[in-house]
Amino acid sequence: AKQGGQNHLQFYVASIDQEIRNRKQLERDLSQALTNHQFHLVYQPQINLESKRVIGAEALLRWEHPTRGLVPPDDFIPVAESNGSIVEIGQWVLEQACWQAARWASVGTPLRIAVNLSAVQLRQETIVDDILETLERHNIPAGRLELEVTETSFMTNLAEAVEKLHQLHRAGISIAVDDFGTGYSSLTYLKQMPVQHLKIDKQFIRDLLVNEEDTRIANTIIDLGRSLNLSVVAEGVETAEQEYYLSQRGCQLAQGYYFSKPLPPREFEAFITHFHEK
Ligand code: C2E
Ligand code: CA
Ligand code: CA
Ligand code: CA
Repeated sequence: AKQGGQNHLQFYVASIDQEIRNRKQLERDLSQALTNHQFHLVYQPQINLESKRVIGAEALLRWEHPTRGLVPPDDFIPVAESNGSIVEIGQWVLEQACWQAARWASVGTPLRIAVNLSAVQLRQETIVDDILETLERHNIPAGRLELEVTETSFMTNLAEAVEKLHQLHRAGISIAVDDFGTGYSSLTYLKQMPVQHLKIDKQFIRDLLVNEEDTRIANTIIDLGRSLNLSVVAEGVETAEQEYYLSQRGCQLAQGYYFSKPLPPREFEAFITHFHEK
């Protein structure tokens, strides 16, 4: 038994060691990803449940690793946030999304593009100027950009975050609170923040019609949105039943596999054409 125990310990230490090495390797690979053109964006349509029109798209980052294949953003974004490289990667995302928005506008499909903004990016001193400069360079009206921020963005330095978001909002950019309800939600910051959209996290939508708690949470967010005059976006809508419930309950916008997975630009264009013909 003793022998076995020691083996277990050795195995455990070895696997921690392996984990650290994996993480270091991931960081090294990540630092090469931009220069080696391994990133691309996919776009997920956002649908107005009343008009059944695509009103915009959320840009989502994809990393095609040369040997590991597609690495999910949930695996590398936290790494990029902790070593600060998210600042450079995030700027690339914004550039790319603006370039795409300009292209779509030039072919007669002006869409609102939603871009995820990390809390680390929001803490950068030059972030407001960087964003406005990027819009200008691509000739994108500020009203066509939406920034998705999470509740954690407000926690580290509330006053500073409020001020920056106000500057962005005054310029015409809209702000959405992503993953609403999963973080340290506080009604105080909703009052202070120039926020226009709340996104119900997909964890509440998945079992929306089976789990009574999830139903109540979704209802509460929809009601909160109505009383604060914010539009509510449900993410992770996968079934017709979920869509029906949400639209009956007064949720205005939705995105999810039920409509479409996030798509490369060409396929996104084809999707819109088909969706609007239906
Ligand atoms: P998020 O911003 O909450 O994005 C929603 C996630 O749900 C996306 O995962 C999307 O592909 C997925 N999704 C959409 N519809 C459905 C559905 O019907 N069912 C299910 N099960 N999932 C659905 P993804 O693309 O893997 O991104 C994960 C997270 O990574 C994002 O969560 C966001 O926090 C982060 N992320 C992605 N791209 C960027 C980026 O450019 N910058 C930053 N800072 N974060 C990003
Ligand atoms: Ca998002
Ligand atoms: Ca989410
Ligand atoms: Ca998220």
